[in-house]
Amino acid sequence: MAEPNSNKDGVAAESAPSHFIRNIVVDDLKQGKNHGRVHTRFPPEPNGYLHIGHAKSICLNFGLAAEFGGKCNLRFDDTNPSKENVEYVDSIKEDVRWLGFSWDGEYYASDYFEQLYQFAVRLIEAGVAFVCDLSADEMRQYRGTLTEPGRHSPFRDRSVAENLDLFARMRKGEFADGSRTLRAKVDMASPNINLRDPVMYRVVRATHHRTGDQWCIYPTYDFAHGQSDSLEGITHSICTLEFEDHRPLYDWYLDRLGVHHPQQIEFARLNLTHTVLSKRKLLQMVQQKHVAGWDDPRMPTLAGIRRRGYTPEALRNFCERIGVAKGNSTVDIAMLEHSLREDLNKRAPRVMAVLRPIKVVLVNYPAGQVEELEAVNNPEDPTAGTRKVPFSRELYIEQDDFREEPPKGFFRLSPGNEVRLRYAYIIKCTEVVKDPTTGEVIEVRCTFDPETKSGSSQSKRKVKATIHWVSAAHALAAEVRLYDHLFAAEDPDDVPEGADWLANMNPRSLERLTTCHVEPCLASAKAGDRYQFERLGYFCVDADSQGERKVFNRSVTLRDTWAKVERGASNSPPARR
Ligand code: ATP
Ligand code: MG
Repeated sequence: MAEPNSNKDGVAAESAPSHFIRNIVVDDLKQGKNHGRVHTRFPPEPNGYLHIGHAKSICLNFGLAAEFGGKCNLRFDDTNPSKENVEYVDSIKEDVRWLGFSWDGEYYASDYFEQLYQFAVRLIEAGVAFVCDLSADEMRQYRGTLTEPGRHSPFRDRSVAENLDLFARMRKGEFADGSRTLRAKVDMASPNINLRDPVMYRVVRATHHRTGDQWCIYPTYDFAHGQSDSLEGITHSICTLEFEDHRPLYDWYLDRLGVHHPQQIEFARLNLTHTVLSKRKLLQMVQQKHVAGWDDPRMPTLAGIRRRGYTPEALRNFCERIGVAKGNSTVDIAMLEHSLREDLNKRAPRVMAVLRPIKVVLVNYPAGQVEELEAVNNPEDPTAGTRKVPFSRELYIEQDDFREEPPKGFFRLSPGNEVRLRYAYIIKCTEVVKDPTTGEVIEVRCTFDPETKSGSSQSKRKVKATIHWVSAAHALAAEVRLYDHLFAAEDPDDVPEGADWLANMNPRSLERLTTCHVEPCLASAKAGDRYQFERLGYFCVDADSQGERKVFNRSVTLRDTWAKVERGASNSPPARR
């Protein structure tokens, strides 16, 4: 079990975040319910990759189990074969592990198909379930509306014997898809539509990723879920608010069957600004190639944010921060980014990288000379030590750090002006070389002051700005991918009338910079390694890297530039340190 929840002895329980579900569990334990057991489960349907919303549910379920010395199962809710597959099962397991959790049991609702079938037979025998021949359309007509009660199906009063026979023949495959269903006899007049004789089984000829063609009838979510919880001895069945109206049915099935009865508790799902958290929509974005795949670093999937450079610690910390509540709300994505910055600030080594290069030549620096300058790996972590950075006559700096005609208040490099090169010297711009045809600045010539080496006793002279650089002859060429929100609108569903939610996709969510230069120490960096590029942000090595030619994903900027854009600030580049 991961460290943040590993207080199995209860010692750290006081520091665990308190919320209404935790309070319920504490009360249940006090009253000796469930013989003092706490057993939760995380029940994804393997019909897509997990997203940040699922992380909230994972942290909650696994967190409670760990805190109270209980257990947490991973259960695949695989009752809808046409949408599910093994790729999704595997990705879900990988993602839960990556978040730092290990499950006590790995279960599949499909493992219970025989038991669920027998439960259904018991309900038929008890006279509270029947085989119905209404088509889906007819059933809708009989169901009534929010203001009008429904009507009884003409097949509701079939005898137990006939129902048993028909249900057995449904299983054998004697009837066409959709031609018959098994329904519970609950209450067609109930104001809760979920209770108007809900379907328990439907005929679907679809090959299941685990049970193959063994079954041609499949239980519905509502019939499978509670009974699966019960079979596993779950004590607290935690789900999101949209299942609140299903709770009476959850309870109805378990009461009629007279089996172990877990308590269903609902909490608010996570919504994030600028983000879509729905597997169905994420699947559409993947299938229609609006993104490169489920692990596109812009995706809110765990696979995507992992590739982007998020750490499990940052995500768990975020989940703790947002808390668990009963009312729906939307969390600012800036909070998620904040959690990542906070984590990476502590542990990401600092390096220098130039994303949009312009060449600087130090005219009074001896050609061929190379100095190895000492640089601090991480000022937040003294144990991270130092490294050597090569310095020579020709360097690259950011285009942004030079202005031929500096606006008022621009203190970086400009003709006649001085700036400090990080870990190195003060330089002064003496000449600007332009492309004769385009007039574009192609080289900035400077003199360096040998008396101003960083860290040396004479380096007392101060200038207003310090900029980063790399040595042209030593730097590695690299590609850097900058990301912005996939949805420009704060609420992706807020679209003009008649428009599709996809209309809100941000056409500028990816910018690829292919002429970047990074410090040579990054030659051995591996996919997944994370760095702070000084003054630029946090970056992570992408698996697309080829040998020494690295590809970096920007995980997050140093400051929240998005908030500024939203406040309607100018288009000037983000503030730099
Ligand atoms: P989606 O709408 O994205 O398909 P889902 O609820 O259908 O999500 P499941 O695979 O059924 O996805 O979810 C597994 C568990 O994760 C459920 O208990 C569900 O309530 C929870 N969950 C899903 N989305 C969120 C979310 N945004 N916030 C918190 N919990 C969530
Ligand atoms: Mg679902």
